[in-house]
Amino acid sequence: MTVLASGSKGNSTVISSSRTRVLVDAGLSCRELMKRMAIAGEDPAALDAILITHEHQDHVAGLGVMARKLGIPVYFTEPTHRAWVRMMTPRRTLSYAEWMDQVQREKEERARAAAQGAEPGICDSMSAAVEAASSEPVEDPDEPETPEPARVKADPASLPSVEYFLSGRQFSIGDIEITPFTIPHDAVDPCGFVFEAEGARMALATDLGYMPPNVKMALKKIDVLLLESNHDLEMLKDGPYPWSVKQRVLSRVGHLSNLATAEFLEQDYDGSASFIVLGHLSESNNAPELARLAAEQALSGHPKLLGNRILLAEQGSPLEPICL
Ligand SMILES: [Zn+2]
Ligand SMILES: [Zn+2]
Repeated sequence: MTVLASGSKGNSTVISSSRTRVLVDAGLSCRELMKRMAIAGEDPAALDAILITHEHQDHVAGLGVMARKLGIPVYFTEPTHRAWVRMMTPRRTLSYAEWMDQVQREKEERARAAAQGAEPGICDSMSAAVEAASSEPVEDPDEPETPEPARVKADPASLPSVEYFLSGRQFSIGDIEITPFTIPHDAVDPCGFVFEAEGARMALATDLGYMPPNVKMALKKIDVLLLESNHDLEMLKDGPYPWSVKQRVLSRVGHLSNLATAEFLEQDYDGSASFIVLGHLSESNNAPELARLAAEQALSGHPKLLGNRILLAEQGSPLEPICL
C-alpha cells in the first residue's frame, strides 16, 4: 500500500500485489498524482486500473485525465459512475429572458436556413433550447500536451473503459480479489474496500459517518488498514467551519472523529494489522498528534495490539510504500 495523499483536499492510494497494481481514487490532478508516484517509486505505466470509492471531488479530481492518459479501465458502482458523469457534464439553467433570446435567435437561424433551402435540424427545437447544456469545457490544466481527438476534448466524462461492481460482491482485478463494502457517507453509493492477494489483506475505510456493523465485520483479519481519523471533536466545534458544515461532518453520513476511531480500535478491532494508517485527517479540525494519541491510547489497553504500528497519512506528500 502506497498512500499518495489523504485528506479533504485529495485522496489516492496505490494497492499492489507482485503482478497487479490498482489506484484507489484519483483525488489530485493527474500531474500531481504522477509526481507523487515518482516520489514514492511507483510507476504510473504499471497501473492496471483505477478504482473509485465515491464521487466527491477529493476522490475524483484527476480521474478523467489520469484514466485517459494511462488508457486504463475505471471501476465504479453504477450510481457513482452516473453521479460522476453528471458532475463532469455541467448544465446551465437559462433565465426566462435568456431562453426567449435563444428562441428568437433560433427562429432567425431557421428562417435563414429555410431561405437558403436547407432543412432545419431537429436540435433547433425549443425544448432542446431549454435543456441546452453549457458547451464550455471544464478547464483542466492537466490535459496532456499531445492533443486528444476532438471527441474526447468535448466530453470530459469520457473514459477508456468503465467496469461496474456492486457493494458486497467480490470481484477481481488481476490477482487482487476485491470486496467492496457500503459505508455511511453523503455520496450516492460510497464504499470501502478489502483487498486480498498472495495471502495478505489490506483494507481502506475512510469517509464514513460512523462504524456500522458491516464495516466492523469487513475490517477483520486485515494486515494493513487505512482508517479514517478525520477530526478532533473539540477542534471541530471551536474551528472555522460554518455551523452547517460542522453538522455535516458530525452527522451519521459525515466523517469519523478521532474518538469514534479510537472506540472502534478499543472495542471492535481484532488487532490483526501490522500497520494501521490513520487517514483523511482534517487540516482545519485535527492535529496529527491528537489522532495518533487517541489511537495509541485505544490500543494501549490491549497488550497484544502493541505490535500494531500506527502511521499517519499525509495530505501534502506520499507515505513510504508499506510492504508485507
Ligand atoms: Zn473524502
Ligand atoms: Zn467524501
